[in-house]
Amino acid sequence: MSSASQPENPPVPPAFRVERSSVHGNGVFAQRDIAPGERIVEYGGREITWDEAQLRAEVQGGPHNHTFFFSLANGNVIDGGDHGNEARYINHSCEPNCEAIEEEDGRIFIYALYDIRQDEELSYSYPLIYEGRHTPAIKRAFACRCGAANCSGTMLAPKPRKRRPKAVTPDAPAVPAEYGPALAAVQSPQPAAPG
Ligand SMILES: [Zn+2]
Repeated sequence: MSSASQPENPPVPPAFRVERSSVHGNGVFAQRDIAPGERIVEYGGREITWDEAQLRAEVQGGPHNHTFFFSLANGNVIDGGDHGNEARYINHSCEPNCEAIEEEDGRIFIYALYDIRQDEELSYSYPLIYEGRHTPAIKRAFACRCGAANCSGTMLAPKPRKRRPKAVTPDAPAVPAEYGPALAAVQSPQPAAPG
């Protein structure tokens, strides 16, 4: 039994905070040191179908507002902008210190890959799957400025190869059709990085 005069245990500080990032918009920063393998935060948001995600992206004017959805193994996505949390502000980096893992119950959690020091910005490698054409405007919108030595310069995952052979297309037009019918920028959790 503790006496009334004894102070209670100080509350454990949250592992992270959201503030302006030099990389892009808001970022998420370590509020304290974080150990490798520590589960930092769930990627919150409502689970919706892929069709609904595309609809939402269109309504919001395309992918430029960084409306990212995390794709799940069951084909649905998690919309971090719908009942989401701070995790949606975690920026991409080509040299990330965190990774996103989908658990068996279809929830996505952010884990520390390495020792993360207090005030370090949290990041993971998206990769960003964009189903529309990778026009110059789209490439610009998703350019990576993470500053890592091995920065690929883009947040976009390479487009998957089509099954049927495709004719060589001419250069993209000057006015890109980025508001096409099938727009959705979708994040997909990375498998655990070796080492
Ligand atoms: Zn980068």
